[in-house]
Amino acid sequence: MLRVAVIGSGPSGCYTAQSLVQLDARVRVDVLDRLPCPYGLVRYGVAPDHEKIKSLQHTLRGVLEHERVRFLGGVQVGPGGVPVARLRELYHAVVYCVGAATDRRLGIPGEDLPGSWSATEFVSWYSAHPDAVDDGFLRGVRSAVVIGVGNVAVDVTRMLARGAAELSPTDMPHAALTALGASEVTTIHMVGRRGPSQARFTTKELRELGTLPDTGLVVDPAEAASDPAYTDPAALPAPQRRNVEVLRGWAGAPAPDARRLIRLRFFLRPVELTAREGRVGAVRFERTVPDGRGGVTGTGTYEEVEAQLVLRSVGYRGVPLEGLPFDAAGGTVPHLAGRVLRGGAVAPGEYVAGWIKRGPTGVIGTNRPCAKETVTSLLRDAPLFAERDLPGDPLAALRADGVEPVGWTGWQAIEHAEARLGASLGRTTVKLPDWESLLAAARTTGP
Ligand code: NAP
Repeated sequence: MLRVAVIGSGPSGCYTAQSLVQLDARVRVDVLDRLPCPYGLVRYGVAPDHEKIKSLQHTLRGVLEHERVRFLGGVQVGPGGVPVARLRELYHAVVYCVGAATDRRLGIPGEDLPGSWSATEFVSWYSAHPDAVDDGFLRGVRSAVVIGVGNVAVDVTRMLARGAAELSPTDMPHAALTALGASEVTTIHMVGRRGPSQARFTTKELRELGTLPDTGLVVDPAEAASDPAYTDPAALPAPQRRNVEVLRGWAGAPAPDARRLIRLRFFLRPVELTAREGRVGAVRFERTVPDGRGGVTGTGTYEEVEAQLVLRSVGYRGVPLEGLPFDAAGGTVPHLAGRVLRGGAVAPGEYVAGWIKRGPTGVIGTNRPCAKETVTSLLRDAPLFAERDLPGDPLAALRADGVEPVGWTGWQAIEHAEARLGASLGRTTVKLPDWESLLAAARTTGP
C-alpha cells in the first residue's frame, strides 16, 4: 500500500487524488483541508450565479467518495496544526495543493482605507467563507470601482450589478443576498491599466456582462482606440480578438436608461485612493498610453473616479507554508515536474500541484493535466519511499495527536443543514456562513 496525503480539496487536490487512484491500484489517499467543507475555490470562489461551473462539485464529489480516498476536513497543516514534518512521518508522500491564498497588493497610498477591499474579501463574503468579514460592503455605496480586468473583476462587477431576484435561487448566504438586494449602487467602473486587447477576462465572461437585466454597458471608443489592436484586431490571437470584437460591439452606444451602469475603462492606472469622511471617496488614476512593447507608460494626466467602494482585483498570490521551500518572487513552491525542490535538489516524497505549483492562472480544467504531471512524477519516484514502514493508519495517529478531522459524514451533515436552512427561508440550499454553525452541523450525525 502507498499512502499519500493531498493537502487541499479544491480542484487541483481532487484531480490529484483522482489521478493517484486511477493510475495505481495500491494507492490510498487522504485529502486534508483546513476547512470542514471540500472543493476549495469551486465552493468559495466560483460566483454563486455560475451554477454550471459550480456543478463541477458533483465530479469532485465522486473523487472524494472513491473507496480509496478519504476526506479529512478541519485539519490545519503548518503552524498551529499538523507540521509538514509530521505529515512526512505519517504518509509515504505528500502533495501540496494549497492554492494561492492571498491577494496581490497595489502598493499605493490609501489602499487600506475603509471601503477598500480585495476582491477576494468581497467574494469570500458572498460565498459564505467562514473567515469572511461582513463590514457592510454596500452601505452608502452609489459608485464602485473595480480595479483590474481579469475574470475575478468580471465576477465581482456582475455580482454588484445583479438584483435579489437573480441571486435568490443561488446558495449565497442570506445576509449577503439581503445586502446585495438592497444595494443602491448605480455605477460600477471596471478599470484596466492597459488596453482592451490586453485584458485578461475571457470572452464568455465578458459577454455575460451585456446580458444582465436592467444594466447598461458603456465603453468609450476614443479611450479604447489608444490600443492599436482595438482599431485593427485582425492580427490578434483568437481569444483577444473575440474580446475586442465584443467591446467594439458595445462601444459608442449612448448610455442606456438602466437601473445600473457598468463602465468599462482602459488605460488608467491607479495611483492613490483618496478619503472622504474617513473612508474611501475616490480613486485617482493616471492616464497611460501603450509603450509599444505590451506595457504602458504614464502621461502625467490624472482622473478621479468617485467610489464609496473599491474592490482591488489584481490577482492572487501564493503564501509560504512553514517547512516547505518558497519562491517569493513567483509566490510558488520551486519544483521539477511537480517534485518539490529543496536547495535546488529534488525532495522525493514531496510534491505540488495547482496554483502553488504554477501560479494563479488558468481555468479549473487547467488543474487536470497539472495534477497528472505531478502524479506521474510521484508514481515514478514511488520505489524510493514505498517500502518505508509507517506508524499505522494516519487517521489514528492524527487523533492521538489531538486532531479530530471532519470526515465525509460530517460534510454530508453540513450539506443537510444547508438544505434545511434553504427550505426554512423558502430558497434552495443556503450556505452556512460561519465556523460555529459549520462545526455544529458537522458534529451531528446527518439526516
Ligand atoms: P488575472 O487574470 O491575473 O487578472 C488580474 C488583473 O489585474 C489584470 O487585468 C492585471 O492587469 C491587473 N493588475 C495587476 N496588477 C495591477 C496593478 N498594480 N494595477 C492595476 N491593475 C493591475 O487575475 P484574476 O482575475 O484574479 O484571475 C485569476 C485566475 O482565475 C485567472 O486565470 C482567471 O481566468 C481565473 N478565473 C476564472 C473564472 C472563470 O472562468 N469564470 C472566474 C474567476 C477567475 P495587467 O494584465 O496589466 O497585469
